[in-house]
Amino acid sequence: MASRPDPGGPIVPCPACRKPAVFAPTNRWRPFCSERCKTGDLGAWASNAYVIEGAAPEEASDPIDDSAEIPRPTHPPGRA
Ligand SMILES: [Zn+2]
Repeated sequence: MASRPDPGGPIVPCPACRKPAVFAPTNRWRPFCSERCKTGDLGAWASNAYVIEGAAPEEASDPIDDSAEIPRPTHPPGRA
């Protein structure tokens, strides 16, 4: 057993690149392995959230079909 430096915590796979990352206060990017992985993952997550937020349901009053409500003068009853 060779003495190795204590990472200070458990080793977890980086969510972004799957490389081992130290999950400990010594790693400020935990659970990521580096700043690049952390910011990259956050960026993807944020853009994804924006897509979900922007998907608004299409709901609008249709002013085109207003002819159905207009009473039209037809043949007056009682006249032949
Ligand atoms: Zn990484």
